[in-house]
Amino acid sequence: MHLLQRPRTLKDELQILFLAVGSAFLVLATVLLYQNGQASLRRQLVASASSAAETASALISLEDHRSLRTPADVTSRPFRNIVQSLGALRRANPDIVHLFTIAPIGELGAWGIVVDMGGSAPVREEANLVGGRLPIGSRPPASLPASLIRAGMAGTTADILDLTNPSRARAVAVSPIVSPRGGAVGLVVVELSAAGLIEEVRLLWYVSIAIFLVGLVVSVVASNMASRWVTRPIEELLGAVDEISKGNLRARVASHHRNELGALGDAFNLMAKNLESSKTKNDEQQNLLRELHRTGSQVAATLELPRMLEIASRGIRAICGGEEAFAGAMGPRDKSVRLWTRSGPGTLDLDGWDTPVTLLEEVLGGETRLLARKEFAAAGLSMLLDRKGDYALAAPLRVSDQTLGVLVALGSRKEFHPEGISLATLFARQVSAAVGNARVFEQVRAVDRSKSEFLSIASHEVRTPLTVMKSSLDILVSSPKFEYTADQRQLIAFCQESVERLIRLVKDILDVSKIEAGVLSIQFQPTSLNDLIEKCLFWVPQLPGGQGIEVEARLPSEPAMVLADPQRIMQVLENLISNAIKFSKPGGKVTIELCEHEKEYEVIVSDQGKGIAPEDLGRIFGKFFQVADSATREQGGTGLGLAICKGIVEAHHGKIWAESALGDGSRFHFSLARVLDTPIGDRAVGEIKVDSLLSALRTASARASRIG
Ligand code: ADP
Repeated sequence: MHLLQRPRTLKDELQILFLAVGSAFLVLATVLLYQNGQASLRRQLVASASSAAETASALISLEDHRSLRTPADVTSRPFRNIVQSLGALRRANPDIVHLFTIAPIGELGAWGIVVDMGGSAPVREEANLVGGRLPIGSRPPASLPASLIRAGMAGTTADILDLTNPSRARAVAVSPIVSPRGGAVGLVVVELSAAGLIEEVRLLWYVSIAIFLVGLVVSVVASNMASRWVTRPIEELLGAVDEISKGNLRARVASHHRNELGALGDAFNLMAKNLESSKTKNDEQQNLLRELHRTGSQVAATLELPRMLEIASRGIRAICGGEEAFAGAMGPRDKSVRLWTRSGPGTLDLDGWDTPVTLLEEVLGGETRLLARKEFAAAGLSMLLDRKGDYALAAPLRVSDQTLGVLVALGSRKEFHPEGISLATLFARQVSAAVGNARVFEQVRAVDRSKSEFLSIASHEVRTPLTVMKSSLDILVSSPKFEYTADQRQLIAFCQESVERLIRLVKDILDVSKIEAGVLSIQFQPTSLNDLIEKCLFWVPQLPGGQGIEVEARLPSEPAMVLADPQRIMQVLENLISNAIKFSKPGGKVTIELCEHEKEYEVIVSDQGKGIAPEDLGRIFGKFFQVADSATREQGGTGLGLAICKGIVEAHHGKIWAESALGDGSRFHFSLARVLDTPIGDRAVGEIKVDSLLSALRTASARASRIG
């Protein structure tokens, strides 16, 4: 039933097919068996009737038979002779239900019974038959077919099987009693009961049905097994195909058959193996390309030549293979490759390694080559002769057709990747570009350093006479010895203002050049941001415009301790607050907030001034940048303040940023790492244990001081 409900599989279909063929065969075989059996049983019955009739006719004496013509002859000797013979025959064969002889009797020559051995009741004693059932001369029973009598008269044995009436089923046979001159003088008629035959045929029917049912069961089992046998490899194949489609390329099928299915399985396994190996190759290539990309990006991400070479030596080994690898480059003022790094097991002293670029160029030109041991010296790599590898995969690092260094992977030939030369060439190109950039960067840095040095010296030289000028002007204004007209006073005030602006500008330029040269001095010490902000508030009213603006500070009650240079952080605060006041509208408000976060403190200086346009927001921390509007021009300024703030905050490993929208005021934030084990919380400022603070931060301080 379930076969009809669920979708049919190949196995189901084969099973149905096998079952149908098997059942048809079974039906045919059963029918044949039954019919043959039945025919054979019938033949046997008829044959035994015929043979009984023949035996009987042979037992009867012709003379005896001839002498019996009237009913009175039943007492005669011949009659008893015949009865005796036929009685013995009848007793020997219990299936005989009727046995009689007939012969032409009387003037008309009509056939009449001569000896009748009685009906179905068995004959035990011949004496019981005296007189017989029918008197001599009686007509033969109407049930005896005339065709049989005719055949018997013609001298042949004949028989019929009559099963029309099951209660009287019988086989009848006649056998002639032949005279020596030929021709039948009488016939023996034997009627055998076919009841046994019917029983046997019924039994045969049951046996056939039983054989059919057993055959049916066997054929169900056999069809199941046969369909499984055929479909199992196909199911396995389908399962394996499914696995492969899910990405499991290791799926294989077991080879059960030595036929087309087996061949299909083998072909599938071969295909899966090829697929797996090409996937493995593909994965390897992808990994290599990823490594190439990753290492290439790492190389490009640094401008420090030694670090770059270190990454390159690891990269060339990872990409191309080999026991160990080296990356060498010329320093900015060198004429040969002297800066070497190595990747591989163990350590090696690379001091004194010196490869003339001319030799590298002679042997390699611009190409990557696999050098045999005997070529090492010619390429200037004789130091590699002490190493184990027999081959060196050498890729020159070239910038603008000039060799600046070399990448070398060293090992036995089989240790290198088959695509080693092209991979090394690709990688060397990336490293070459990075080495070129590093050289340019080094040159730019050298120029920048000398510029900063120059600015530093020049500013210093300019500041001294400016300070002298400022002091002189101060004396001129404050000394009672000198009398001035109002115009003269005005002129001196102009001079004072200009000198102050110049001093500020020089100081800012000096700071910027120190920041850029990385020589800004920072004296780290535990510092309370609250104190610095409070100090700032103290001098705010003295700032230009400071009187008309309300300044509010929102500070936590606990001191916000950071490790910082108080003078420099003051400088940042002053700059941000003075900018906020400078760009506020009259009557505006400036707020200074100090917020505590998990790892840092954040200071926010906000105003309600003109705000900054989004396109300028990203540029205000650059050098000499000022928003191009009339309000900014009115305020003067150098455009260096925020650049200095950024430099100072970053030198403290902090962050500085701004948020603003035109007309909506500005918010300037900077954050500094908080001193995590500072015993803040509910303690007052005076209770801070500076010693414990210092010890906890000694390492950080030492590292950060290097910046100053
Ligand atoms: P300076 O103030 O000397 O011009 P800064 O580097 O301090 O130089 O500021 C750069 C520019 O950023 C200023 O010229 C101004 O245009 C803009 N700016 C700075 N602070 C604010 C502020 N609070 N509101 C509006 N604009 C500001």
